[in-house]
Amino acid sequence: MLSFERLYKDGHEEVIFFSDPSCNLKVIVAIHNTVLGPALGGTRMWNYKSEEEALDDVLRLSKGMTYKAAVSGLNLGGGKAVIIGDPEKDKSEALFRSYGKFLESLNGRYITAEDVNTRVEDIEHIFTETNNVAGVAEVHGGSGNPSPWTARGVYRGIEASCLKVFGDKSPKGKVVALQGAGSVGRFLGEYLYNEGAKVYVCDISEKNLELFKEKVPNAEIVGVDEIYDVKADIYSPCALGATINDNTIDRLQCKIVAGAANNQLAEARHGQILMDRGILYAPDYLINAGGLMNVSIEFEGWSADKAVRMVDSIFDTTLKIFAISDEQNIPVYKATDILAESRIEAIRNISGKYLGNLSHRFPGRKTR
Ligand code: NAD
Repeated sequence: MLSFERLYKDGHEEVIFFSDPSCNLKVIVAIHNTVLGPALGGTRMWNYKSEEEALDDVLRLSKGMTYKAAVSGLNLGGGKAVIIGDPEKDKSEALFRSYGKFLESLNGRYITAEDVNTRVEDIEHIFTETNNVAGVAEVHGGSGNPSPWTARGVYRGIEASCLKVFGDKSPKGKVVALQGAGSVGRFLGEYLYNEGAKVYVCDISEKNLELFKEKVPNAEIVGVDEIYDVKADIYSPCALGATINDNTIDRLQCKIVAGAANNQLAEARHGQILMDRGILYAPDYLINAGGLMNVSIEFEGWSADKAVRMVDSIFDTTLKIFAISDEQNIPVYKATDILAESRIEAIRNISGKYLGNLSHRFPGRKTR
């Protein structure tokens, strides 16, 4: 269970359990690191088998958000929340509003957003009680659907990878094995098609494959297991995590792995194996950060121009990470962590300065 030893191990600052029996609310908020700014990360609702499983998930996910924000150049820390419950049966206005009231009490140290099984309607209920929520509806000045922005960022990561491997950033004429024709996959497919890449796609959902074909008419549909064997230049995982594992890695014939899915490597050693085989792995938590970047703009007033500028920076940052990987002869996933950690340390080091007159902080106190 929760212990200080466990929090110290991964550097979590704070873990909070909120409960409200009146609406069956059970939520755990984990704030991992706030050196760069308020912790931002979505709220996941899941029918966890145990509280231990929920705790494991929120600790792992909140740490991931710290790294994602840091490497993306955002002034945000990392946090995440999990609601324990069945999203089909346990959602209610009262549950999300009660949760919103608790979030308000955190005074902006944690800002929530959508995640797996939470939708804009749920976010709206939270927003009734607190401003510490991002991804609210566009009518309230929100930033709207994050998926097109995530896809744009993944596409920039693919361009950076193509430049490194093929000497030209355009994927024109390249073959892409795209796993997952969901919200991000569809937009990514459209970018690739417009640039003249050939897309092979798989999905477990016939409906999503049909929608995909509307955007990418010449896409070839392959089976969900066949996708690993496609003779492709680029494998783009946009469905599930951990698809680069002992069962799939020998089957990949590509030169680049670049997609939207979180935690694509089943284990860190798979990153080393990719490197040893000459397959370039684009850093997953950087190139899929477009949605987070987009939502982060909400607090300063969202505009498409700002979002484009920020999301397109993924191209340069990806190249920077490839350069660190080459210089230090380390896998890309390690180079990405190094860049994220070095930014947090650099910003931590500029704090600790006395910033001038204290009198405004003690109004009414006599000066000596
Ligand atoms: P989504 O649920 O809209 O799409 C996922 C698709 O994968 C669905 O069409 C689903 O049917 C399909 N799928 C599930 N299992 C599959 C399998 N075994 N083989 C092939 N297809 C399968 O999700 P999304 O929003 O498009 O996100 C895709 C991935 O990117 C997820 O891993 C998500 O965590 C990650 N991600 C998304 C965003 C975002 O802005 N949406 C941001 C960062 C990361």
